[in-house]
Amino acid sequence: MTTAQRLLLALLIASPATTMAQGAARPDADPRIEKLVAAVSERRMRDLVTKLVSFDTRSTLSDTVSTTRGIGAARRWIFEEFKRSSPRLQVSFDTHRIAQQGRITRDVELRNVMAVLPGRSPRRVYITGHYDTVNLRAAAQPGRAPAPGADAQANRDIDYDVDAPGANDDGSGTVLTMELARVFAESGIEFDATLVFIAWAGEEQGLIGSMAHAQALAAAKGIVEANFNNDIVGSSVGGNGIIDGESVKIYSLGPEDSMSRSLARYIVRVAATYVPSHRIRLMAREDRFGRGSDHSSFTANGYPAVVFREANENYRRQHSADDTMEGMDFTYLTQNARVNAASAAAVALAPSAPNVNGERGQALIARGASGYDASLQWGASPGAVGYRVYWRDAWTNDWDRSQVVGNVTRFVMPNVSIDDYVFGVSAIGADGNESLVSAYVSPVRRMMEVKLFR
Ligand SMILES: [Zn+2]
Repeated sequence: MTTAQRLLLALLIASPATTMAQGAARPDADPRIEKLVAAVSERRMRDLVTKLVSFDTRSTLSDTVSTTRGIGAARRWIFEEFKRSSPRLQVSFDTHRIAQQGRITRDVELRNVMAVLPGRSPRRVYITGHYDTVNLRAAAQPGRAPAPGADAQANRDIDYDVDAPGANDDGSGTVLTMELARVFAESGIEFDATLVFIAWAGEEQGLIGSMAHAQALAAAKGIVEANFNNDIVGSSVGGNGIIDGESVKIYSLGPEDSMSRSLARYIVRVAATYVPSHRIRLMAREDRFGRGSDHSSFTANGYPAVVFREANENYRRQHSADDTMEGMDFTYLTQNARVNAASAAAVALAPSAPNVNGERGQALIARGASGYDASLQWGASPGAVGYRVYWRDAWTNDWDRSQVVGNVTRFVMPNVSIDDYVFGVSAIGADGNESLVSAYVSPVRRMMEVKLFR
């Protein structure tokens, strides 16, 4: 490319958003996202958690009739609160009839509470947390203790109506979801993707509500750009006394170039622009040891997903009557909510991530006519005005080089070995927002069993 061509390209790529933001502290920022991030209310999240814990328990198998106590009262209130927060939200119960299995000790009608903010396209960006709670100590009450080695929660005699306030697990993720539903709906921004805000039930019984949802979505061939799941994100004081209100962890399922990992890297980049005071610590694993959350229901169905986890947990409070308001730090929760808001808004404003695979699923990368070039191809993303090609050494995790390549679906880098680098490509929209990076992945070689003769 000549210098003149490069200049022309740079001009073509310069976006209205970039132009509008000039003179601002952050020239890369989209002012609409800055405004949306600033609208996240710490006070409202505090009020919402205060109300959530007042239902005493939100166990999936607790009372559904009472108007003041149990999961029935809680889900009806979440439903109404979604509705109250904006007329633009389409609010519904996502209901599933779950048969008795494992920790679901009787047939139960499970209800996720869902608020949808329709975008220009049906592809979805999810922000989620689970509103159900559990008190494991109740499962170990005298006379109700499980047999040694048995799953305490599969015990049919558990008293599901004992107190399980769940302020942090996962009142924190639930109110983050509810607050972002309000902020996104009231922003007036027209997003390209459809935003889906869900408070899950059945998480404590094995991710039941999210799995029922993701399973149905996959069967209906729904498209998900990203799932931002939040579970235990509202306390800055660990059980060991260590305080960290400046960072949050993100876990994502590999391999290293899965779209879940791409999403994790994306959040770091966006957060650096919009919430520079908060540090994102990426964890190259699905979750903590022996623990899980609803992002796994998405990855299990082939959808990109991550989970946010607070920097230092207090295990003593979790899954007990002690998970109360006293353990919460709403300033910290607000920072985590802002990171979610900025990244989800950027994904939802950007075009879809380019498809870098052919019809048979093969990566569209080759050595070009010379046999020694990097020749990349991808499918056009609707609404894209340009693309950015990324590359890095084949042993590293973070993209260290990139180049904007204009509105093309093919790019050749002469004398660059496709075997020495990992390549990826993102799509850039008219307003400058960029999609996730789709990486060209070399598949694991399929080996045949060697047959021997006697
Ligand atoms: Zn949880």
